[in-house]
Amino acid sequence: MELISRHQKTIEFEGQDIHLPLFLDHQSTTPLAPQVRSLMLEVMAFPGNAESDSHVFGFQAQAIIQNAKAEVAALINAYPDEIIFTSGATEANNLALHGPLSLRPNTETLLTTQIEHSSILTTAQALEKRGHKLCQLPVAQDGTLDVSKLQTAIASTEVALVSVQMANNEIGTLQNIFEIGALCQKANILFHCDAVQAATTQTIDVKRDQLSLLSLSSHKIYGPQGIGALFVKRGTPLSPVILGGGQQENRRAGTLPTALIAGFGEASRLARQCRDTDRKHLMHISNLFKKELRHQLGANIQFNGSETSHIPGCISATFTGIEAVDLLLEIPELALSTGSACASHAATPSHILTALGLDAKTAGSTVRIGLGRYVTETESRYSANLIAKTYLNLVT
Ligand code: PMP
Repeated sequence: MELISRHQKTIEFEGQDIHLPLFLDHQSTTPLAPQVRSLMLEVMAFPGNAESDSHVFGFQAQAIIQNAKAEVAALINAYPDEIIFTSGATEANNLALHGPLSLRPNTETLLTTQIEHSSILTTAQALEKRGHKLCQLPVAQDGTLDVSKLQTAIASTEVALVSVQMANNEIGTLQNIFEIGALCQKANILFHCDAVQAATTQTIDVKRDQLSLLSLSSHKIYGPQGIGALFVKRGTPLSPVILGGGQQENRRAGTLPTALIAGFGEASRLARQCRDTDRKHLMHISNLFKKELRHQLGANIQFNGSETSHIPGCISATFTGIEAVDLLLEIPELALSTGSACASHAATPSHILTALGLDAKTAGSTVRIGLGRYVTETESRYSANLIAKTYLNLVT
């Protein structure tokens, strides 16, 4: 099979070379960090099953996995034995809900929000079909959850588990995880957080935020696809979802993929090391990007999500009077998205934009732009300029 060339075309903009197509969809996945890639290549050169206790290859795999586990744990201030490796955050989210809930009476409620990732919402709905009670709290127009609504819900019903994401994958809005954690702790309720989109730019601290469970995905932090983790606080009851050979203390069976885990560990180490520079860089290029679009398009562009509490780099923009798909078709130079990659096959408008109060037409005019660690200032200005010019051509 022939792969698309990373540099199909090189153009000059403001005196600098820009290689096209440009990847601007970092909420869907992130490129591998070079350090991650070289470590993985090294690890892949050896066979090794961490369950093999009879030879040096098995011991080496065990050591690599232990090291990576310590790095993932350090990223979120957890203990290494609180980390369960999964195939990604979809599986981590499934385990986070099924794991504790299948041990609880189904008279108790699962409390979540209307703007969670589809891996939470569809799992929650499947649990509801099995008899569990489900409550999906609405959010404000900017995507923030009013914590007093959660407090009221906790006071009025028997709650087994609260699951609230840290940052949204379409609009970037951050929730007040610290306050929610304090509330759950006081009410003695398990609290799960999907922190997938926050892990490169926010300080995640499972102790500070009093979390019982937290999901991570390697490919959102410049690590490989196919690996993720669920943090499970010591002592939290959890029934396994995947059964088999008893790996990971019977909490998730299956041979551990050594190279993927090594890559995830290295990506976690880098995320911790680069957090402040990543955040500052993404804030800077996002501001440039938005400024350029606002300057050229004025009232024809509107940004969704919270102005004050959001992850930098995730830009949800609604363009008046056009279909987002038409705009994207005109710009093959840029890899952009009309919404969450996991839901892009759906013909219905994004459940996240709908929950913010956007009608189907407005949601259909919305583009998600995801900037990342390796996107430069010039690339950001070039892209905003290209999007603005293409939009103006479409509407005139
Ligand atoms: N949660 C959120 C917020 C996400 O953005 C994603 C990925 N789109 C997932 C969960 C699922 O992660 P994975 O691709 O590792 O299954």
